[in-house]
Amino acid sequence: MSRKGIAKLGLIALAAALVLLYQRAGWSQYLSLESLKASQAALSSYHDSHPVAVILLFLAVYILSTALSLPGATVLTLAGGAIFGFWFGTLLASIASTFGATLAFLASRFLFRDSVERRFRESIAKINRGIEKEGAFYLFTLRLIPLFPFFLINLVMGVTSIRTLTFLFVSQLGMLPGTAVYINAGTELSQLHSVTGIFSLPILFSFALIGLLPLISKWAIAAVKTRKHLSRFKKPKRFDYNMIVIGAGSAGLVSAYIASAVKAKVALIEKHKMGGDCLNTGCVPSKALIRSAKILNYFKRAAEFGFESLPMTFEFSKVMERVQKVVKEVEPHDSIDRYSKLGVECIQGEAKIRSPYEVEVNGKVLTTKTIVVATGASPMVPPIPGLKDVRYLTSDNVWNLKELPTRLIVLGGGPIGCELAQAFARFGSKVSLVEMAPKIMGREDQDVSEFIAKTFSHEGIEVLTSHKALRVDRDGVEKSLICETNGREVKVVFDEILVALGRKANVKGFGLEELGIEISKRGTVEADEFLRTTIFPNIYVCGDVTGPYQFTHTAAHQAWYAAVNALFSPFRKYKVDYRVIPWCTFTDPEVARVGMNEQEAREKNIDVHVSRYEIDDLDRAITEGEAQGFVKVLTQKGSDKILGVTIVGDHAGDIIAEYVAAMKHGFGLNKILSTIHIYPTLAEANKYAAGVWKRETAPVRVLTWLARFHTWRRSS
Ligand SMILES: Cc1cc2nc3c(=O)[nH]c(=O)nc-3n(C[C@H](O)[C@H](O)[C@H](O)COP(=O)(O)OP(=O)(O)OC[C@H]3O[C@@H](n4cnc5c(N)ncnc54)[C@H](O)[C@@H]3O)c2cc1C
Repeated sequence: MSRKGIAKLGLIALAAALVLLYQRAGWSQYLSLESLKASQAALSSYHDSHPVAVILLFLAVYILSTALSLPGATVLTLAGGAIFGFWFGTLLASIASTFGATLAFLASRFLFRDSVERRFRESIAKINRGIEKEGAFYLFTLRLIPLFPFFLINLVMGVTSIRTLTFLFVSQLGMLPGTAVYINAGTELSQLHSVTGIFSLPILFSFALIGLLPLISKWAIAAVKTRKHLSRFKKPKRFDYNMIVIGAGSAGLVSAYIASAVKAKVALIEKHKMGGDCLNTGCVPSKALIRSAKILNYFKRAAEFGFESLPMTFEFSKVMERVQKVVKEVEPHDSIDRYSKLGVECIQGEAKIRSPYEVEVNGKVLTTKTIVVATGASPMVPPIPGLKDVRYLTSDNVWNLKELPTRLIVLGGGPIGCELAQAFARFGSKVSLVEMAPKIMGREDQDVSEFIAKTFSHEGIEVLTSHKALRVDRDGVEKSLICETNGREVKVVFDEILVALGRKANVKGFGLEELGIEISKRGTVEADEFLRTTIFPNIYVCGDVTGPYQFTHTAAHQAWYAAVNALFSPFRKYKVDYRVIPWCTFTDPEVARVGMNEQEAREKNIDVHVSRYEIDDLDRAITEGEAQGFVKVLTQKGSDKILGVTIVGDHAGDIIAEYVAAMKHGFGLNKILSTIHIYPTLAEANKYAAGVWKRETAPVRVLTWLARFHTWRRSS
């Protein structure tokens, strides 16, 4: 047993011994009103002769009984009033009750917090988010309303994340009025006939009111602030639109679609191309390019599939033409034509927010009840000395390349960098993938990053991790990136450099600054759980411009919340749900994930069971010539509840959908194991991973008995 475990046992034993002593010694009889009345004179005279001893005894008994959550605090408080008078009695009882409560709180935290967090991870995380925001207010309210047993408050608060000092000070303040009422009653002990009579209904009601006051004032202040902000702007008598959406990317399109579906009048303003990043410079072109690169790679692997040789020639410009053709093919899904037919008024032009009720576009001011900001993000280009002097590529302009770069540096080993590095390498560029961190795909587990890095090296990509880009040098026509690694400088020569260092939210130049809308430390528009911006409750935000995820599917997911909340608040509004967010990096093999991975479980100190199934064992993967990768499932210890899944393998992004559904709708590995999967498919990997879990967690003792049972049956 760990030291902490022993200490916990020790504490429980000590508390149990003290409670037992309290009961056996019959001390509870002294903590009654009658007993107090009977001994009041004796106590007072003893206090007159030994004041310090009585004070210390009072404090000790009070603190101990509160810390042990023993009944009797009411009588002790009355005793404080009877012996020490109102002011001094209040002071002593207040100190003692606060210290006692804090000790109970600390004991509860030490004994129960870990296990409660482990068992009720999601609920506790939710409570803690509330505690972080308004914990002090909640505690104050609970303390003031004496209907809530104080010992329960101490124990419950102990398992939350509230800070000890906050607990101590707020408890002291919150318990003070109640303490004063009891102390006051104690000063007139002879006239007191019952403890229950001390708190009349009006007093209880006033306390409840005081308790709720901080929360009510907080809400009122927020409402007044909002009104004040809004009052700076003239509210139109009638609005042209129910909703104006700025940006026709994934987030904006879905917001406008939903608004039109519920028959709201909606305008969608786009300054560039309908479909935004995903269609024009993101998901669609990148996946089209990756597909061509994969086909080419199959040709290179022709011998593996039984072909003598497959002559293959290609022109890179033709591949890029196909990429554009694919974009054109998808374009109608996001087109003005389609959205106009759906009832959305599509406006081509740059939008500028003039006020919370007005958006200007093409010199015309449109009035609107609500605004949805969906302006997306742009490639982040850090100020690396010399970079601006060479033509550098980003995900915005790489699609214009007509010639294959001979030597290509991809700067950044995140998803976009990895996908494009592999695609270009497969076409024949000599690719160097430069990453400052010690591994590529930083968010994924070490074994995942290593697997992809190994695949890349095998395909001829130079993977330069722990390489920090210092500057770009130019020597005649030769261009090079100077990096620092292990304290020395290294030079990487290139013809083209692709900067893939993340994406920064588009928050500037269209009126947010002028309105004073808050921008987070990450540079995204700050939003609450309803996706409202912080100052104006009628301005909503969704997609890359607010994050925290930068995917098309999360942009669309948020768009539903932003649109519904914008159109139906205050009658109905929904908190955006980020519980189960999947994503995929479309390298070959793909890396798909949902929920937590081992790295995150470690960081959060969560004890998980890891089941790993190797895809090189999967029949369909073998027939496809794609027998590589693994499925890794993290489950809660002692249960089949799925906490996270990472799949490295062909079509990982598709086959993970089963786990996404399981996590979203709360079914575990047993259900996946008992589901029939078609043979032979890649999706069978999910079932086999569940099988690994089943074997690894099989009840050994039951199996031993079963073996004996069968032996016995063979013998009869
Ligand atoms: C190379 C690459 C590959 C990617 N691959 C994937 C993938 O495989 N899967 C995935 O889920 N995600 C992928 N993404 C991410 C995905 O593209 C984005 O998360 C998604 O496009 C975000 O949508 P959005 O609507 O928030 O922003 P955007 O798509 O950027 O749309 C914002 C729109 O707002 C417009 N706009 C901005 N300001 C104004 C203004 N003032 N007035 C009018 N219009 C304005 C812009 O012109 C733009 O069209 C990829 C991204 C890149 C770069």
